[in-house]
Amino acid sequence: MALLEVTDLSVTFPTADGLVRAVRGVSFALERGHTLGIVGESGSGKSVCTQTLLGLTQGATVTGTAMFEGHDLLTMGKKELRQVRGAQISTVFQDPLSSLHPLYKVGWQIVEMIRAHRKVSKRAARARAVELLSLVGIPEAESRVDDYPHQFSGGMRQRAMIAMALALDPALIIADEPTTALDATVQAQVIDLMTRLQKEFDTALIMITHDLGVIADIADEVLVMYAGRAVEQAPRRPLYYDAHHPYTVGLLESIPGAAGTGEKLRPIPGTPPSLINIPSGCAFHPRCRYAMQRCAVEDPQLTEVADDHTSACWLPPGLRGLAPQTHQARA
Ligand code: SF4
Ligand code: MG
Repeated sequence: MALLEVTDLSVTFPTADGLVRAVRGVSFALERGHTLGIVGESGSGKSVCTQTLLGLTQGATVTGTAMFEGHDLLTMGKKELRQVRGAQISTVFQDPLSSLHPLYKVGWQIVEMIRAHRKVSKRAARARAVELLSLVGIPEAESRVDDYPHQFSGGMRQRAMIAMALALDPALIIADEPTTALDATVQAQVIDLMTRLQKEFDTALIMITHDLGVIADIADEVLVMYAGRAVEQAPRRPLYYDAHHPYTVGLLESIPGAAGTGEKLRPIPGTPPSLINIPSGCAFHPRCRYAMQRCAVEDPQLTEVADDHTSACWLPPGLRGLAPQTHQARA
């Protein structure tokens, strides 16, 4: 049984301007200890997907199921969900200060979190906090444990947040653009750290990013989202080597500094559509260099283009590997 199985998840928000269709019929499964990358430009619905699982999309209409360890996160009571959210599913966000309170010492915050969910003494929790901080590479953790968040560098704050996410030994970590605010070197270090610890703790990971480069070495599975839909889903290798959907190809081509060739990044022309006014037919058709007549009219559904590999596009299944090889993962 998968650790998490999301089936036909849809999320809509009523707004003054109309109905925002943020997520439309997304399904995926995540095995224990595995990494799922969810990729798409901002406004593709990727964050809303996971926020919904955590009960953080208030005022939204949600349909579908999200079975986690045999329980549906979408129908769970608030109290039960809060318990799951603390102890079994933890989160790492782009901005560490969304999780770290600026007015409390870093160590104290980890201690409080441990003690909110486990019956352990303050001393034991503090020892665990020091252990976790040194595990994530905070030098002199024994003394830094009493620092305030502002005394940490950006990279260190992100490490502290990872320590916090690991504190209760969760089955799943959801990381939403965890490294976007960091420079490239620190970004690579933080990703390395997360995946090393993930293996060590045997934690499943959902990594949300707009940059396919970030997860090129770590994702077991990749889900590409566009305008609230999953448009391509595949294990890592076929996704990077044999991409089928032109949007995925566009993302591969726009990986910054791809393959270190100094090649210029080639952004996808145009911008993602408003989720209030999603284009007819294939939502990507106004930006797609392969668009045909039917694409503006008929909406392609996810269909298998190879084993374990689905794509929502009218191009023939055999037409895979449209992306230039230089942009592909070192898989
Ligand atoms: Fe492009 Fe048509 Fe495929 Fe959409 S269905 S991605 S417009 S080729
Ligand atoms: Mg987001």
